[in-house]
Amino acid sequence: MTGLLELTERGLYCRPGDFFIDPWRPVPRAAITHAHSDHARPGSAAYLTADPGVAVLRHRLGDDTTIEGLPYGAEFVHNGVRLSFHPSGHVLGAAQVRIEHRGQVCVVSGDYKTAPDPTCAPFKPLRCHTFVTESTFGLPIYRWRPSAEIFADINAWWRSNQQQNRTSVLFAYSLGKAQRILASIDRSIGPILLHGAIESMVQIYRLAGLDLPPPVRATTENARDTRGQALVLAPPSSENTPWLQKFGEVSTAVASGWMAIRGTRRRRAVDRGFALSDHADWDGLLDSIAATGAERVLVTHGYAATLSRWLNEHGTSAAELPTRFIGETSSTGEPSHSEAPEEDSAQKDAPQG
Ligand SMILES: [Zn+2]
Ligand SMILES: [Zn+2]
Repeated sequence: MTGLLELTERGLYCRPGDFFIDPWRPVPRAAITHAHSDHARPGSAAYLTADPGVAVLRHRLGDDTTIEGLPYGAEFVHNGVRLSFHPSGHVLGAAQVRIEHRGQVCVVSGDYKTAPDPTCAPFKPLRCHTFVTESTFGLPIYRWRPSAEIFADINAWWRSNQQQNRTSVLFAYSLGKAQRILASIDRSIGPILLHGAIESMVQIYRLAGLDLPPPVRATTENARDTRGQALVLAPPSSENTPWLQKFGEVSTAVASGWMAIRGTRRRRAVDRGFALSDHADWDGLLDSIAATGAERVLVTHGYAATLSRWLNEHGTSAAELPTRFIGETSSTGEPSHSEAPEEDSAQKDAPQG
């Protein structure tokens, strides 16, 4: 596909540098864009990732995993190939991987977003010859509202639930989305309780120096004491489970880009949907791709066919880059380019939104 990158049965491979990027099978050397499980698979001998992502990756892959960190922007040189990580604005430690060899520059975006997020370094497009872009929300129907408006909606929903003496339960992915919500909502409204999967990730974010409130794990006691007042953050997999019973009467909501589509909301048995995404929307994808100046774009992880066709029709040479997960559509009609983007989302079939 390019001299620098090729697709193998274990994933995207840089032959001159002899390393893989986000491989889906065990390899000797893996460069990892971020710790969501459709990008960070276990079993490789050695992992390299951006410094702020090391603790998150270790939490996901296990303490005995060999992981090295590289500061954003620093170069790792191997066989004459220069590799560096650059913020992708997706979750803590998420990075674009830039590789340079004999004057050719190739950038693999991983997942990225252009909207502001106080919990991670902002995405910055990099000039390159070849850009490998994600396309999770690569359809023109996906256009995000300003995130400040969405957080105002979440605050208002929480307050109105309090007036009706209902506990607010908000389902959000445990890595990234939950911390972004925690950092952005109005903490003065009431107590906030966390599911254990979110609480442990919040601890890691706090150790990384992020301004998040001391996490409180939901227990039978504090759930009872805060009934009708609390906001509970829980992973999507806890939807419809007995774990929710301790909160009494609840109003439920999902925070995900998939909620932008009315039908998706209806299929999920929740009261509200907040279209808050950690991915670029259609305009964000197009603007970012244009800003790289890339003469060739490879589209992966999502609506690759639609986005690459659009690019080709508008003067940019583009092609789909298949992933192991492409071509499956879940029973809910949401694309499932990822088997289990998060340990807590397997039952929902959709990539973390
Ligand atoms: Zn991701
Ligand atoms: Zn992804």
